[in-house]
Amino acid sequence: MPARSTSIAVPPLADPGLAPVGTLPGVGPALAATLAKIGLERVQDLWFHLPLRYEDKTRVTAIGDLKAGERAQVVGAVEAVERGFRYRPQLKVAIGDDSRQTLLLRFFHFHRAQADQLKPGVRLLCYGEVRHGAQGLEMVHPQYQRVGDEQAVAVDDRLSPIYPTTEGLGQKRLAGVIDKALALLPPDAALELIPPPLCLAHGLTSLREALLYVHRPPPDAPLADLTNGSHPAQQRLAFEELLTQHLSLKRMRAAVRRRRAPALDGNGELRGRFVGSLPFQLTGAQLRVTRDVLADIACAKPMLRLVQGDVGSGKTAVAAMAALAAVEAGWQVALMAPTELLAEQHLRNFRHWLEPLGIHVQWLAGKQQGKARAQALACVADGAPVVIGTHALMQEGVAFSRLGLVIVDEQHRFGVQQRLALRDKGLEGDLVPHQLVLTATPIPRTLAMSAYADLDVSSIDELPPGRTLVQTVAVSNARRVEVIERIHAACAEGRQAYWVCTLIEESEQLRAQAAEVAHAELSAALEGCSVGLIHGRMKPKEKQAVMDAFKAGGLSVLVATTVIEVGVDVPNASLMVIENSERLGLAQLHQLRGRVGRGAVASNCVLLYQPPLGQLARERLNVMRETCDGFRIAEKDLQLRGPGEVLGTRQTGQLAFRIADLARDAHLLPAVQQVGEAMLRQHPRDAERLIERWIGAAARYAHA
Ligand code: ADP
Ligand code: MG
Repeated sequence: MPARSTSIAVPPLADPGLAPVGTLPGVGPALAATLAKIGLERVQDLWFHLPLRYEDKTRVTAIGDLKAGERAQVVGAVEAVERGFRYRPQLKVAIGDDSRQTLLLRFFHFHRAQADQLKPGVRLLCYGEVRHGAQGLEMVHPQYQRVGDEQAVAVDDRLSPIYPTTEGLGQKRLAGVIDKALALLPPDAALELIPPPLCLAHGLTSLREALLYVHRPPPDAPLADLTNGSHPAQQRLAFEELLTQHLSLKRMRAAVRRRRAPALDGNGELRGRFVGSLPFQLTGAQLRVTRDVLADIACAKPMLRLVQGDVGSGKTAVAAMAALAAVEAGWQVALMAPTELLAEQHLRNFRHWLEPLGIHVQWLAGKQQGKARAQALACVADGAPVVIGTHALMQEGVAFSRLGLVIVDEQHRFGVQQRLALRDKGLEGDLVPHQLVLTATPIPRTLAMSAYADLDVSSIDELPPGRTLVQTVAVSNARRVEVIERIHAACAEGRQAYWVCTLIEESEQLRAQAAEVAHAELSAALEGCSVGLIHGRMKPKEKQAVMDAFKAGGLSVLVATTVIEVGVDVPNASLMVIENSERLGLAQLHQLRGRVGRGAVASNCVLLYQPPLGQLARERLNVMRETCDGFRIAEKDLQLRGPGEVLGTRQTGQLAFRIADLARDAHLLPAVQQVGEAMLRQHPRDAERLIERWIGAAARYAHA
């Protein structure tokens, strides 16, 4: 490569991975700025920006051989075109091929010119997901291109990687830039940070080859292995990623525990008034965990505690008790949540609970601008007792005056580095805030030791009384129309329903689009019902307006992406439909289902799936039908998801890992721990570089 052969002037030790992406040929300032939005700032960030999944456009499937639930490529000639306008514009295009079967292509968003092009006889090469529709198999919003008559269609010769991306950055362009970065990939001796004897001892193969393989799988690469993450190249990278996380947690814990924290030991007066004002009594489990937390923060050593408790177990009240102890002792509390929606809900709860006690609760969000932001910042710097927000709380320019306690909700959405960043907002000298992490994803002890190697753990193992169990059924998507009718009937009785779209797409934009499509479909089918839509690309105000309308009963059905996964609380919603439920892990299904069953009415959850169901998917759905107990579900999850299982949390939009999956890759953990300990003892500098390589960029990514 020219970049290397002409680099004689550069000192031999210069690491090409540390060069800014702008030094790559063809990457100008505009593209560099777009790449920076997803944390891709240096060449090595591109090396480690790993595909989410792969598309197989190496073959063409006959329409007659298509199966619902698969992604496939077909070639067909347009047979009929219909443009509907009943509630929303809709373009339906029927195509056929030699297999004498018809496939329907459906578009809810289209341009006139696009529709005009699709005339009978035109041949199309389409790629998309096949599903059951009212008139047989269909693809909604497939990718397509026109192909000439009769001429042989050129197919790809290898799998196409699909990367996480952002608006304005197409897959082709991103893959092109990654290609250029890969050309600078040094030989293993320079790239590898795990000392060779340790690699050898644990059978770790070439990092360079693993990276090249996952970015550019050869033509004969096994799609099934790559899809479920069991390919040796992926496992090699997963090992390194898990190792990095382990190192970072260990290092962090050691560093924090060497410092001091303020002793938060008020007299309990505020807590007493708070408990007295609650319309319910705290459960035994809430009280026990609260005691753990209060004992920790009363000491001058920084608390690092994880509170795990099932969905609805009442973690927020425990957090409020801790917050009151801090406020009482004259210190500030920061509470951060992974989504704006959830942060806003905490804001309302805390204002409702704490303002009657004379405690100001300050909002600080990333989207706040201008005067509002300046005011919020001034208020925080001036010592606002309780500050609530998203990860904006960690941004530059946010200064606390006396931060004594940091509460992080739903930790599985946050990376370790975010926790660290907020802690560094800490105090003068060696004084740091206490830290309380809340999670609704209970994980078995062995995993907890690795995933949360830096934390002590308490469990809220009891739900408040009076919760109704959610009746759960699994229904094939072939009966989609029936399910929609059932929603229609339920809404006519005044019930409210969630319709959750779980399409696993590579950008928030595409996820939003999938939800829009479902919204159009349901709006058309549910005559007389008002159907709302909420997704991650809406403005906070819009989201709030939709949530408020749903909460107030103005909307019967809420079509949502998994933005509603955590924390949303609408007690009257008693019906939930989860699309493509077979693709989700148990933990996520459980989180989603936790949105219903919050009120007194009997609740139902419909798990829609695309047949045929694989063995594991079937077992997962069975577990969901049989139990609502989060701890049981977590254990089942781990049991079912042995190595090689298809679905990783990684594919469901969580940013914590790029390639590793704690459940799937649990078998790697013992070796990870051994290598980790050896590196911390003998090669601390390489350990640092590893963290910088994997997590440095992830932390920036999360700020995007
Ligand atoms: P999660 O643990 O999922 O964050 P929340 O803190 O949001 O749960 O609590 C869920 C609901 O239960 C809230 O409406 C909350 O007010 C209520 N709640 C919390 N603790 C109790 C309790 N001890 N008894 C009755 N209701 C409770
Ligand atoms: Mg919660």
